[in-house]
Amino acid sequence: MKEKTLTELALLLQQRELSSVELTQYYLDRIQRLDTTLNSFISVTGEEALKQAAVADQKIAVGEAGPLTGVPIAHKDIFCTQGVRTSCGSKMLDNFIAPYNATVVEKMSEAGVVMLGKTNMDEFAMGSSNENSFYGAVSNPWNREYVPGGSSGGSAAAVAARLTPAATGTDTGGSIRQPAALCGVTGLKPTYGRVSRWGMIAFASSLDQGGPLTQSAEDAALMLSAMAGFDPKDSTSMEREVPDYSATLNNPLQGVRIGLPREYFSEGLDGGVENVVQEAIAEYRKMGAEVVDIDLPNTRLAVPTYYVVAPAECSSNLSRFDGVRYGHRCDDPRDLEDLYKRSRGEGFGDEVKRRIMIGAYTLSAGYYDAYYLKAQRLRRLISEDFQRAFERVDVIMGPVTPTTAFRKGEKSDDPVNMYLSDIYTIAVSLAGLPGMSIPAGFSDGMPVGLQLIGNHFDESRLLNLAHQYQQVSDWHRQAPEDMA
Ligand code: GLN
Repeated sequence: MKEKTLTELALLLQQRELSSVELTQYYLDRIQRLDTTLNSFISVTGEEALKQAAVADQKIAVGEAGPLTGVPIAHKDIFCTQGVRTSCGSKMLDNFIAPYNATVVEKMSEAGVVMLGKTNMDEFAMGSSNENSFYGAVSNPWNREYVPGGSSGGSAAAVAARLTPAATGTDTGGSIRQPAALCGVTGLKPTYGRVSRWGMIAFASSLDQGGPLTQSAEDAALMLSAMAGFDPKDSTSMEREVPDYSATLNNPLQGVRIGLPREYFSEGLDGGVENVVQEAIAEYRKMGAEVVDIDLPNTRLAVPTYYVVAPAECSSNLSRFDGVRYGHRCDDPRDLEDLYKRSRGEGFGDEVKRRIMIGAYTLSAGYYDAYYLKAQRLRRLISEDFQRAFERVDVIMGPVTPTTAFRKGEKSDDPVNMYLSDIYTIAVSLAGLPGMSIPAGFSDGMPVGLQLIGNHFDESRLLNLAHQYQQVSDWHRQAPEDMA
């Protein structure tokens, strides 16, 4: 059963070959048996899941089911879930029970989906290895000594180990695509504004975007159709119709123009990763696509730009955690200042503190123009690179990450090296574009992802291209053998 995709499981439920209660129990058992070695979940909500499954079975019985009714999924612990701890991977929110559901959670629940629990993540979504979680590191199911990537590492590891058919994640600079690549699953970061951010705990508000992690592109299309759409509660969500993403999966690729950025195939890219990516692109040629070289000349500015913009926004967003209203509060504060200082000092981990300090610095009166304003200008240049490219090509392809998964601890003491693992994903986030990672093969036994980048709101095309590749390859069907 575990090898079945979300789409296949949904069909079995609709045909009543299987009940949602049976299916939910099956995944709860797998989590209990196997997650001890992975640590991909922070909370498992078994009792509530079985109740939701029983309701789904009722709906199926009376013919009121939608395409996702009764399938179990997991939510990244950054999405507020009413009555359930929503920790964001932080000690700060270890005691926080959300009083409402995030729009994404609400929409999935309206679609009849069952929630198995909340997945592990880097604290406040800051990280590329999932080693920054208050709840401990997550292991890569392909090799427990290795990181699963971050910050949605729990979601990616859980889908890869088939502890859930699908999960939600969020991507600010790569946090859906990078862990999807390192764990060998399919991950889609939608266009900024496509999916509501309401109830998704904010890291960098001009970049954060929620999306699905699944086994296949077909599954991602189903998930995105349920997640996307305008939300009056999020003023940055777009008032734009949600297409039926499943309807265009089989469009032919004849004449589709694929651009390969020279800057993504240069120094710093591991040879094993490059070979896998080139082989995948050769498959697209066979399917009738045209491949051309393009330039994204400002690529090298993306990481430095991001590490001004994202910390600036995080320092502002995280000022709400003050020990007064909710979250961690220190014992016996002497006065208000002591309450702020000790609550924040004790509640936040090192990486979060580093970002808050950088952000507070770059936003301060004397440095705002030199850093923050300049970074905003560079962000515009990076974005224009892509717009120029999309005049010539329909989609851009390249690697997701410069290397496959690295060993735990390998980059922990070297933040800049860690930051560079997002070198191919960050520019896409700064430009607000949709990006996808799909399994394309292995290098030294670890999964490699192929990145697909589209123009704004062109998710349908990305899903179409990804699905067509998954019709001629079976990388997305492979799962770690010892996760039986
Ligand atoms: N790894 C990047 C960071 O640490 C991106 C994280 C994300 O996309 N949430 O900020």
